[in-house]
Amino acid sequence: MTTNQNSPHHAQQNAPTCPVGENHCPIIADVVELRQNVDELSNLVRTDNLTGIANYRYFYQAMEQEVERTQRSGQPTSLIMLDIDFFKKVNDQWGHEVGNQALVHISRLLQQTVRKLDIPCRYGGEEFAVILPDTTLTACLPVAERIRKGIEETPLKVDDQWLHMTVSLGITTYQDKENTTVESLVKQADKYLYQAKESGRNKTCHARLPKIEIVTTEEKQALSELFGSGATQKDES
Ligand code: GH3
Ligand code: MG
Ligand code: MG
Repeated sequence: MTTNQNSPHHAQQNAPTCPVGENHCPIIADVVELRQNVDELSNLVRTDNLTGIANYRYFYQAMEQEVERTQRSGQPTSLIMLDIDFFKKVNDQWGHEVGNQALVHISRLLQQTVRKLDIPCRYGGEEFAVILPDTTLTACLPVAERIRKGIEETPLKVDDQWLHMTVSLGITTYQDKENTTVESLVKQADKYLYQAKESGRNKTCHARLPKIEIVTTEEKQALSELFGSGATQKDES
């Protein structure tokens, strides 16, 4: 699990203090144990059982927070939705248990690939989401492409065989202060994910990029990283 602040595993280890401020507290050990139990439980509630990354519940809460932050500050939030290609075949050919191992494998690759503040989540089934706070579409694209290529290039070893997988990705970015909802952003990202599936899979689809002369130097750098990649630009319509 990444150790970003938003991670479900980010448990605050406060120094133990007496709840009523006594110097020699007789129940301090119980207080410390209770706090640890609360931390562990809140991690469990936010974590996907199989993969150990954030679950749908945590995804939804974190997205709501990011939407609110964007509305207040105007700083962008990007969302990547990704879905494993032909995963049913993986289960059919390798069995459900290997299918589960494949989901854990993809989750680990996601954690290793995204940046510290990005939040990888298991959205449900064989679909994942990554929330990228304070990230424009232009800056999000190389992250999505790193994920796509990383998964394509890193098969899972099962006994003496290699299980190869690819994923399709859809990106949406929220950056104006107009009202929106988590549902509507997921729907937009899903629309591009569907386009990625329809146009052959193992692809990243997204809205039209801003014109090159109005992107920042950092964004230009991000774009140049993408040169020659399989990312596909689509119209918003
Ligand atoms: P596409 O490229 O269109 O996404 O094809 P697909 O086969 O991946 O899509 P489909 O939705 O037909 O199949 C998804 C499969 O994912 C079916 C379901 O059994 C499997 N699946 C969902 N959750 C789990 C899980 O927790 N473990 C395992 N092993 N399989 C799962
Ligand atoms: Mg799939
Ligand atoms: Mg699916």
